[in-house]
Amino acid sequence: MTIEHHLHPPIAPPRRTLMGPGPSDVAASVLAALGAPTVGHLDPYFLKVMDEVQDMLRTIFHTTNELTLAVSGTGSAGMEACVVNLLEPGDKIVVCTNGVFGARMADVAGRIGAEVVQIHRPFGEVFSVEEVIDVLQKEKPKVLGIVHAETSTGAAQSLKEISEAVHEADALLLVDCVTSLGGMPVKIDEWDIDAAYSGTQKCLSCPPGLSPVTFSSRAVAAMDARKTKVSSWYLDMSMVRSYWGDSRAYHHTAPINMNFGLHQALRLVLEEGMENRYSRHYANHCALKTGLNAIGIEFAVAEDHQLPMLNAVNIPDGVDDAAIRGQLLKRFGIEIGGGLGPLKGKTWRIGLMGESSQSTHVLLFLAALEQCLL
Ligand code: PLP
Repeated sequence: MTIEHHLHPPIAPPRRTLMGPGPSDVAASVLAALGAPTVGHLDPYFLKVMDEVQDMLRTIFHTTNELTLAVSGTGSAGMEACVVNLLEPGDKIVVCTNGVFGARMADVAGRIGAEVVQIHRPFGEVFSVEEVIDVLQKEKPKVLGIVHAETSTGAAQSLKEISEAVHEADALLLVDCVTSLGGMPVKIDEWDIDAAYSGTQKCLSCPPGLSPVTFSSRAVAAMDARKTKVSSWYLDMSMVRSYWGDSRAYHHTAPINMNFGLHQALRLVLEEGMENRYSRHYANHCALKTGLNAIGIEFAVAEDHQLPMLNAVNIPDGVDDAAIRGQLLKRFGIEIGGGLGPLKGKTWRIGLMGESSQSTHVLLFLAALEQCLL
């Protein structure tokens, strides 16, 4: 049998306005950085870039944590890195599940032989400190995992009091900040979070491919006290951190150009200023809400815990979810997200993340949606 070779046309993606649950629009300067000449992963230039990425990530995470770096891989790699490094087989983790990503954290922990206890809240709701205290007292876990910004539902989880309860119970707090980082405050030190992971493609507005993580000294001590090897070779922080730290010991070849892109994306965050960036996300969320309410579309999440960067709304009765999303994409080049899990066909998820959080995007989307609903 002969193998036929086809010369496919070069990559020429359509121009989209990315208003879904991620990825978000990417600034031209970030795309340019991704296309900069590749250097070696131990080139002095690249080592300096790594140091600067770590430095900027610390600022954006509001932390002084030494062990702060960009894991190679998307947000799920960061999730897995935190879970596999903090837990050994038989260790207990409580996962607070109120959406798809809490459930994913529980799945990852179960796969490495951890004892997983989940507490649940319906999609769209958040956890109270009282229910967290109850489960901590009953289960006495090593780690409690929770999602700050549940992208599948649009719900924002407050963390400070939960963090106090977790430490009162002598456990470690693991937080998913994939969607929140860069769009709302993620105060690692002030809220005393032990391990957190994020992703590049949401409010940091870099393409998917890296996962910023940070670990407190308490988390590092727990990792240093492990009796067993980390089950994932690739994500073993004891080796990854040697490459990102002073010894620069080769572990795996870092995705050089992704780090160039992230470096520029982080520069843009800091150039804008963190507080300005949070205010911009909030203002555009409010503008979108006003516009949607005016045409009778309601948010799926209660007012006091709506995320500014991920707006989950109820699809009006009688409206065909897929048909409208298809029209938005075809006629206007706008991508929004459908509902996940039990919310499939019930909600739309409208992202206003990073570069995509613009008043012009809000106006374009509202006008386009009205046209599609005619
Ligand atoms: N956690 C949350 C809250 C997310 O929104 C996502 C992605 O949407 C992930 C984890 C997984 O990230 P990724 O898809 O980049 O692997």
